[in-house]
Amino acid sequence: MPRSENYLKKELYSLIKEDAKIFEFLQSGATDGMWYWDLEQPENEWMSDRFWTELGYDPTKNSHHASEWQDIINQDDLQLALENFQKHCDDPNHPYDQEVRYRHKDGSTVWIRCRGIVIRNSNNQPYRMLGVHSNITALKESEARYRTSLKKIDHAYASVKLALEESERLFEMAPDANLKLDVRGNIIKANQQAEELFACPRNKLEQLSVFSLVPLAKLEKYQQAFRQYFDPCYTGDSLFKKSLAILDYAGRPLTIEVTLNLIPTRAGKIALATIRDISEKEALIQSLQHQLEENQKLHALALSDPLTKIFNKRHFNNMMLEEHNKAVRHQQRLSLILFDIDHFKAVNDNYGHDVGDKVLMQLTLFIKQFVREEDTFARVGGEEFAIIAPFTNTDAALTIAERIVEECAKHPFVINDQQQINITVSVGTASLSSTDKTWSPLFERADKALYQAKRLGRDQVQVSAIF
Ligand code: GH3
Ligand code: MG
Ligand code: MG
Repeated sequence: MPRSENYLKKELYSLIKEDAKIFEFLQSGATDGMWYWDLEQPENEWMSDRFWTELGYDPTKNSHHASEWQDIINQDDLQLALENFQKHCDDPNHPYDQEVRYRHKDGSTVWIRCRGIVIRNSNNQPYRMLGVHSNITALKESEARYRTSLKKIDHAYASVKLALEESERLFEMAPDANLKLDVRGNIIKANQQAEELFACPRNKLEQLSVFSLVPLAKLEKYQQAFRQYFDPCYTGDSLFKKSLAILDYAGRPLTIEVTLNLIPTRAGKIALATIRDISEKEALIQSLQHQLEENQKLHALALSDPLTKIFNKRHFNNMMLEEHNKAVRHQQRLSLILFDIDHFKAVNDNYGHDVGDKVLMQLTLFIKQFVREEDTFARVGGEEFAIIAPFTNTDAALTIAERIVEECAKHPFVINDQQQINITVSVGTASLSSTDKTWSPLFERADKALYQAKRLGRDQVQVSAIF
């Protein structure tokens, strides 16, 4: 059964027919303009007041000619409207409905949704057309704004995508091994260099924890340092850069330098570990270090006396040259003390050469207590010793020499916990003279003074007269 018309609808339709005010209300309240076109005389077209006020014009100034709106509509849109008009005339099912642009009196664009319907005569020929306008400018503007923001979002997304691709490329192409790690140290991603460094295919690496590459002995220490670094309360270095001893996938030891960078992501923190194999560099450094130490040992050996371990004649000569030059340059005092064990041949003859050696060793230890840091104490002959004493004048040298003579005479040297051997020494001293061009006159004078001490009966000091 066909639905019966609603009584209110029927009533409204008859009201419209009977009372012009109802139609008036509808056309002004529900539309942004209405037009009624004479298709038999197409120049004539009635347009509602609202039609013109919406476009900024005074309705009283218009004479209801179609040319008036055709002049201010966008000409492309006019073509579209005319095409649609034709299609609608040919086929009433084709809607006359389009969005067109008008030029407002102030020059701005007004977007109008223009809908219409042809009215046909008894021969079914179109002879009038009724149309309504809806101003959709605000809608169009917000649509344009929406499109602009959409474009901006698209642009930003494209930049982010590009940056991401770039960082992925950098990660992959970097000359160092790169690993992305989660907070527990699981390897999330590895690059080509990492595959080579750890001798492990990428798909395997990406299932490992970094700690599976750490020797057991270091495991706890490394885990602790790693955890500490990720602790939000951690206030240490923001960049973790360390040399670590680890193992590759095949269990071979490696020394690596690892730089850890924390990267905050939406899914939480991750770390980027950049790793460099420094095993060869480390080995080279260690071998150089070893070589350096060996050289230092050899150098020390070359300058020391093997029996007594104090400096030898070669170093004595070097130091005489150096101290002489220094003293001359800075006009400072310099003295030389030479001493020789008295009748040492008899010690050897009585107790044997080995005992003689031990006496020489004990004597050097004993004499060291009279030697200052800045002095050079050397064995310059079999049982002959020298002390180069900078900043020391004749009197001060004599004091030291006398002490050595007195203390040696008083000191019994006990050898092998049984033999007690008493020795005396003779000493010659000399001090730098302003006429000394080299260090040898100083040495000669001290040597002469020593000879004099021997000649005068030993166990005494003689001071060179020339200074
Ligand atoms: P003086 O100096 O009082 O004139 O008599 P001396 O007997 O000490 O002098 P001489 O030059 O006659 O003898 C030095 C001795 O020192 C002879 C040598 O065997 C001994 N001598 C030198 N070097 C060493 C050494 O390295 N070890 C031992 N045990 N004896 C040494
Ligand atoms: Mg002697
Ligand atoms: Mg001698």
